Order: sequence, then structure tokens, then C-alpha cells
Amino acid sequence: MIGKEGEGFIQAIDVLNGGRIAVGAMGVGMTGSCIKSSVEYSKVREAFGSKLSTYQALRFQIAEVATENEAAWQLVLHAADLRDRGLPHRKEAAMAKYFSSQVAMKAARMAVQFLGGYGYFRGSDAERMYRDAKLLEIGEGTNEVLKMIVAKELLADHISSKLLFLLLRNISTPSTDITITATSISTYGKVKIVCKGDGFCIGG
Ligand SMILES: Cc1cc2nc3c(=O)[nH]c(=O)nc-3n(C[C@H](O)[C@H](O)[C@H](O)COP(=O)(O)OP(=O)(O)OC[C@H]3O[C@@H](n4cnc5c(N)ncnc54)[C@H](O)[C@@H]3O)c2cc1C
Repeated sequence: MIGKEGEGFIQAIDVLNGGRIAVGAMGVGMTGSCIKSSVEYSKVREAFGSKLSTYQALRFQIAEVATENEAAWQLVLHAADLRDRGLPHRKEAAMAKYFSSQVAMKAARMAVQFLGGYGYFRGSDAERMYRDAKLLEIGEGTNEVLKMIVAKELLADHISSKLLFLLLRNISTPSTDITITATSISTYGKVKIVCKGDGFCIGG
């Protein structure tokens, strides 16, 4: 048996959260590769008497995608850092994955367009990345589902995942006494929950 009996759901959610950070990182790498292909090709290809790399319309696209990829990388690092420290990261993992995959899709579209006819050919790196980037928006939770998760956390119309995480952790591995003050249970306003080391929790 993997893990403890009765904790399958917790593990499934945990695996998904970790997977989303990994997909976010894949998006960052894929975007970097698309930028590299676009930059390299634009420096050698001449159209209308000039190198593609001299056209501002194309330079702006590279600048935009590279900037967005930096932002995606920071989101991935932040979510990974929370996970490493054993802190709640469901929202952050969802944000990292959906933003990074969106940027990867934009970058792949750019790479295909930069390479023109070559980018469209089956077998070209750009064509493969265009298809692969799309998977990042679908697998490990579609981006629509991830936005639902982010919105749910922000609108706090459910027990906050931070609180749920702490409660489940305390109940499954009772260790120390903890006191949680939560403001994100909209129905009840501010609540204080005290969990004893034996896993018993009381709220008020
Ligand atoms: C190449 C590839 C590899 C995969 N590998 C794996 C794997 O290794 N392991 C695994 O378990 N799965 C894998 N999957 C499956 C993948 O996780 C699912 O395809 C994905 O979760 C979407 O589920 P679905 O296809 O049933 O789409 P559906 O759930 O039918 O959704 C269809 C569309 O409707 C949207 N939608 C659904 N509900 C809502 C809503 N309430 N509001 C707004 N929009 C909504 C979705 O976002 C999506 O765009 C893989 C898929 C692909 C394409």
C-alpha cells in the first residue's frame, strides 16, 4: 500500500499540486526553447531586404514573451518553495501552471510564425512545440479548472485550503498543539481553531 489507509484523497491532491508545479517548470523550459529558435532564425533569415531580427514588430514579441516567462518562472519557484517548506500551495501551484502554460502556448505560436513555412512543416521543432505546449494547458488539470481553484481560494466561499491542509495534517499525523486563526470561512467570518497534539480540534 502506498501511504496510509484512508489518506488516498490527500495523497491524490498532493500529487496533483506537485505535478502542476512540474508542468509549470516544463512551460518555462519550452518557452525558453521557443525564444531561442525564434532569435536564432530571425538573425539569419532575410525578408524584404533586412534580417527579421531588425523588425520592431518581431523584436517586441520576443521582449513580451521573455518578460512573461520570467514572471512564470517566479511563480513556479514560489510554489515550489512553499511545497518544499511543507506549506499550503494549491493556489500557487495552480497559478504557476496555468500562467506558464499560457506563456508557452504564446511562445510556440510565436516560434511557428517567426519560422514561417519552416515552422509549419511537420518535423520542425516549432511545430512540435506548438503541439506540446497545448498539452500543458490540458494535462494535470485544464486551465479552466485551475482558474476555478484560484477563484475559489480568493473568493473564500469554502473552507480555505490552508486551513484544510493544516487540519488534515494535524489529524493524520498529530504531533504538536496548533492554533489556527482563519478569516476565510465566509459564512462564519473569523474563527479560531485549536488542534491538540492528539488530533482533536475545536473551533470557536
Ligand atoms: C497528451 C495527453 C497526455 C495525458 N496524460 C495523462 C496522464 O498521464 N495521466 C492522467 O491521469 N491523465 C492524462 N491525460 C488526461 C488529461 O488529464 C485530461 O485530458 C484533462 O484532465 C481534461 O480532462 P478531459 O479530457 O476529460 O476533458 P473534460 O473534463 O471533458 O473537459 C473538456 C473541456 O471543458 C472544460 N471544462 C470542463 N468543466 C468546466 C467547467 N466547470 N467550467 C469551465 N470549463 C470546463 C475543460 O477545461 C476542457 O477545456 C492526458 C491528456 C493528454 C491530451
